[in-house]
Amino acid sequence: MNALWSDMVKRTEPYTPGEHVNGEEWIKLNTNENPYPPSPRVFEALQQELTSNLRKYPESDPKELRNTLAELHQVSADQVFIGNGSDEVLAFSFMAFFSPGKPIVYPAVTYSFYPTYAALFNISYDTIPLQEDFTLDEKALYKSEGGVIFPNPNAPTGIALPLAGVERIVSENQGRIVIVDEAYVDFCSETAIPLLERFDNLLIIRTMSKSRSLAGLRIGYAIGSTEMIEALNRIKNSFNSYTIDRLALAAGVASVNDKDYFGDTIQAIIQTREQAKKIFESLGFTVLPSAANFLFVHHPEIPAKQLHKSLKYKQILVRHFSKPETEEWLRVTIGSDDEMKQFFEKLFELVRMWT
Ligand code: PMP
Repeated sequence: MNALWSDMVKRTEPYTPGEHVNGEEWIKLNTNENPYPPSPRVFEALQQELTSNLRKYPESDPKELRNTLAELHQVSADQVFIGNGSDEVLAFSFMAFFSPGKPIVYPAVTYSFYPTYAALFNISYDTIPLQEDFTLDEKALYKSEGGVIFPNPNAPTGIALPLAGVERIVSENQGRIVIVDEAYVDFCSETAIPLLERFDNLLIIRTMSKSRSLAGLRIGYAIGSTEMIEALNRIKNSFNSYTIDRLALAAGVASVNDKDYFGDTIQAIIQTREQAKKIFESLGFTVLPSAANFLFVHHPEIPAKQLHKSLKYKQILVRHFSKPETEEWLRVTIGSDDEMKQFFEKLFELVRMWT
């Protein structure tokens, strides 16, 4: 550790993103990317932006995308904040709404970026273990001291908490912020957006990386009360007021405007997910009920670590969880039908060798 480092750097344990590979020969089912390309309208919008506008700065207040998202979610445009991927929106939210000395709570296991942000911004936290069936321990999230954050559906389990549960958590935390990270909500669960009409301590964070196939362009957003959005703008404008580039802004608008394509690709992924669940079960895996674009699976006889390694040897990447309570679990992103077919062919061989 370097003596010249700031205290912030010294206490920071950076997040390690999932393994990255380029190349057609790999089947990449480890970071919950969408197997389908973005809407064709996105490519048209990108082309136009590339030919005419790249020499100019983007709008620092991206009004068109904010208006488009406001219409989509039936909120007003000043309830929408847009950032460079939801990771950035989450980081700004930690800065804007959580304070040192007031511990926040979040479930364990959950999205592994939360402890990183907590360390970076000196926020202490208590983790709430999941229940035996891997659902959230809802009551333990009531009455936090400094606020609450959780993904819904949760990651890496994929299990969604019904809206009534989210409402109780928000309502029991009056005066403290509850951040619901809805990165995977489009894959079949209820959004908490309608609760915004009644609660001003709720912030919802979304991403275009998963359901809209735009992970490469980094677009995330938050929806909340106008005061909360103002707080996020204060942070952003004190940091990098042009945080979203022109290509991302144009692509975001085009994607939201192609509702049919969005609906079709979501349905295809849900269908593949449900088929994949059945195949896993037929191979002896336990599979948690998923409302996301991944499945969290466990085989009673085959160590997950070993499966991860053997699949990697066959150029298939999945995610293995090394946290004590989930040691034996794999998280498998739903790929295209063809990718899943190849995945299960290889998995079938491995399971046969082990059992
Ligand atoms: N929240 C959760 C729960 C996630 O799994 C992810 C993706 N790893 C993100 C947020 C961040 O997504 P992005 O920064 O690509 O918008």
